[in-house]
Amino acid sequence: MALQFEDNFQRKFYYLRLSLTDVCNFKCTYCLPDGYQAGKERPCFLSLPEIRRVVQAFALCGTTKVRLTGGEPSLRRDFTEIIRQVAATPGIEKVAMTTNGFRMEKSVAQWQQAGLTNINVSLDSLDPRMFHQITGENKFDQVMRGIERALEVGFTQVKVNAVLLKGQNDHQLPAFLEWIKHRPVQLRFIELMQTGAMDHYFDRYHSSGQVLCRALQEQGWQRKVRASNDGPAKVFWHPDYQGEIGLIMPYEDGFCETCNRLRVSATGKLHLCLFGESGVDLRDLLQQDNQQAALMARIQSGLGQKASGHFLHQGDTGATPHLASIGG
Ligand code: SAM
Ligand code: SF4
Repeated sequence: MALQFEDNFQRKFYYLRLSLTDVCNFKCTYCLPDGYQAGKERPCFLSLPEIRRVVQAFALCGTTKVRLTGGEPSLRRDFTEIIRQVAATPGIEKVAMTTNGFRMEKSVAQWQQAGLTNINVSLDSLDPRMFHQITGENKFDQVMRGIERALEVGFTQVKVNAVLLKGQNDHQLPAFLEWIKHRPVQLRFIELMQTGAMDHYFDRYHSSGQVLCRALQEQGWQRKVRASNDGPAKVFWHPDYQGEIGLIMPYEDGFCETCNRLRVSATGKLHLCLFGESGVDLRDLLQQDNQQAALMARIQSGLGQKASGHFLHQGDTGATPHLASIGG
C-alpha cells in the first residue's frame, strides 16, 4: 500500500503549504503593520534543490497539492523555476500560490506555463482607499488588473481572500457579491486570527463569520461538498452568480477535525499547525538526495505530536508572531 502521512487522530495529510520567503513588500495592518523587518542575520531561505527534496518526500507520502506562500512568494527571483519543479514532481496534481497580487499582471501567464494550477489573491476591499489603508500600498488597480489577467490567461477560477475586519470591510458584502455575479471568482472571507504580535488589534477588528454565513443562507446561497485535498473553507454557491463564496472560520467548533494540511517554513521547519510551537527542523535532511527515507520518517514522527486542535479560544497563539512568518 502507498505511504500516507497520518496523525494520531486518523487525519490524513494531502496538502502541503510551503513558505518560500518571510519577506513581504506590503504592510497589512493584521500581518506586518510596520512592514518586513530584517533581523541581524540574513535568513537563508530554502534553495531549489532543498525545495525539490522536501516536496518529493511529501509526494511520496500522499501529498497531492502544494501551495506556495510566504511572506510574498513572488518576490523570489527563482519563483517560476520553483513552480516548474514542484509541478514536475510525480504525484503532485495541484500547484497553488497565495499572493498579494502585485506581480500577477506581469507574470501570471508565465507562472501558468510553468505549471501553476490554482491562484489565491488577497484583496481585502473593493474600495481603493480602504485597500490602501489596510495594505499600506496604493496598488489596488494593479492587483485588480492582475486578477483580470489571471482569468484572461485561462485560470478557470481565481480565489480572492479578504480578511474580515469589523467596521472596515464587514459591511461590504453587497459590493463583493455584485463583483462576483459575472466573474468565476471564489471570494473567501477569512476570520481574523489572533497572532503573537497583535496587541489590541484583534479585539478591535475581529468580526465573526457567522453573521455573514446567516446572511448568505437567507439570500439563497447553498453549501458545496468538500474534496479531500480542499482547504478549510465552507464553500457556498448560488444559481444567479458565476462566482462562489468561501468562509474560513477558525474559531468555529470542529474547524480542526478536517485538517488535511501541513506547513513547511521558508527555513525548512515542519509546522504541524499554524498556531503550534517552533517546528521540527528538516533542513539537515534536505542536503542530499539519499536521505528521503529519514526525512519521511522524521515528518511522520513529528505528526505523532500534532494536537487535535489549536488553542486560539484560550488566547494561546503558539509561537507564531504573524502569518508572514509561517505562510498563512
Ligand atoms: N503575501 C501573500 C498574501 O497576502 O496573500 C501570502 C502570505 S499571507 C500571510 C496569506 C494569507 O493570510 C493572506 O490571504 C492574508 O490575508 C492572510 N492573513 C494574514 N494574517 C492574517 C490574520 N491574522 N488572520 C487571518 N488571515 C490572515
Ligand atoms: Fe504581506 Fe501577505 Fe502579510 Fe499582507 S498578508 S503583509 S501581503 S505577507
